[in-house]
Amino acid sequence: MTALIPDQPTPLIIARFSEITLKGRNRAFFEKRMERNAALHLRPHGPWRIRRERARLVVNGGEDVATAVAILRGLPGIANVSVTRPVSREPQQLEAAALDYTASLLAGTPHPEGRTPRFRVTVDRKDKRYPQSSMEVAAQLGHAILEQHPGLKVDLGRPDFTLMVEIWEDGALLFGEKLSGPGGLAVGSSGRAVCLISGGIDSPVAAYLMMTRGCPVVYLNFHSFPFIGEQSKEKVHDLVRLLSRHQPASRIYVAPFANIQQAIRDHCPEGLRTILYRRLMNRVANAVAEKEGALALVTGESMGQVASQTMENIYVIQQSAAYPVMQPLIGMSKEKIIAVAREIGTYPISIQPYPDCCTLFQPRHPETRAKPERVHRAEAALPLEPLVAECVAGLEVTDYGPQYYPTQW
Ligand code: ATP
Ligand code: MG
Repeated sequence: MTALIPDQPTPLIIARFSEITLKGRNRAFFEKRMERNAALHLRPHGPWRIRRERARLVVNGGEDVATAVAILRGLPGIANVSVTRPVSREPQQLEAAALDYTASLLAGTPHPEGRTPRFRVTVDRKDKRYPQSSMEVAAQLGHAILEQHPGLKVDLGRPDFTLMVEIWEDGALLFGEKLSGPGGLAVGSSGRAVCLISGGIDSPVAAYLMMTRGCPVVYLNFHSFPFIGEQSKEKVHDLVRLLSRHQPASRIYVAPFANIQQAIRDHCPEGLRTILYRRLMNRVANAVAEKEGALALVTGESMGQVASQTMENIYVIQQSAAYPVMQPLIGMSKEKIIAVAREIGTYPISIQPYPDCCTLFQPRHPETRAKPERVHRAEAALPLEPLVAECVAGLEVTDYGPQYYPTQW
């Protein structure tokens, strides 16, 4: 096997797969997905070559390593990424290379105040036939490092830096860190979903979580122009562009919602407005899901977070959906949702203070436990079919591909 090319001047990027390694007989399918996604994402960013090798992608050939690493770290299915130096695994050469590499790790480690830096060596034998055990190699390299840098100390528990070594059949890899990725499954390994995305904090996180479960996500936003300004729509586009780093192709539909909202305002009980808005949104989403071959809708509700998100209201809202409505945030606290939003970078965009159409003609006393019969009766006063058909006919489609990042990231 010649997976590695030792003593190359350019680094080799290793992107390790997450759960897809557990998938038994489907493993090849998941791994191919992962490789294909990485290829699609990297293509606009240089002549990167990608190979699949024992539950990893081995990536090299391009110049802008930082960008490639940022891209790979955004891909669902990637557990972590390392920028490595491929070297000879022949013991003497390995030791010399490890000493040289340690010098660069040491230079990049901020010296802790008042004490000497501590380090550890971790060795992982991918080739179990290598004559020395992992422990032996680690001990030998650690010893050589201490000899060359008498000021250093070994600390297996909380080192300031770690020299990591992987020994393969045709060489060894040296690296200092594993940068975390999203984990989960490669996008495309589960079915497609339509995510109802507002400009808020929650729905972008819901979309992200679905992507990490392997679902390609198509976005649908409702926009009540001219009551709600263009900036609100731009904000949603900004969110979708940012989220496009997680799947090879992102499509957003923007639906004109003003006529529906006005009809509800004019013909239905005030307290039911929010529920009716959401029921009409679901009907338009049904049409988009059918068009896109999606098998589920996704929304960002969290149980009890606001008046509209009670069990009773969720029940009656979901009756209007022709597909399962998935709510990945349903059991999460606001703090947890915000923590994810910060991690994926959507938070600063989401908190920009532009209104969402749900705030339009907002009832003074929104119903928190809507009775289904009352809702159905209220809805009967609306020309449902033409309203939904008109909204669907006015859908505005935009596609974003992998060329859009990581400039914003
Ligand atoms: P978010 O932070 O996602 O806006 P929220 O806490 O404001 O959620 P609601 O206003 O009750 O919650 O909306 C619940 C869900 O309905 C949203 O998470 C989203 O999936 C969907 N939704 C609400 N408004 C819109 C909209 N204008 N366009 C598309 N989907 C929407
Ligand atoms: Mg909202």
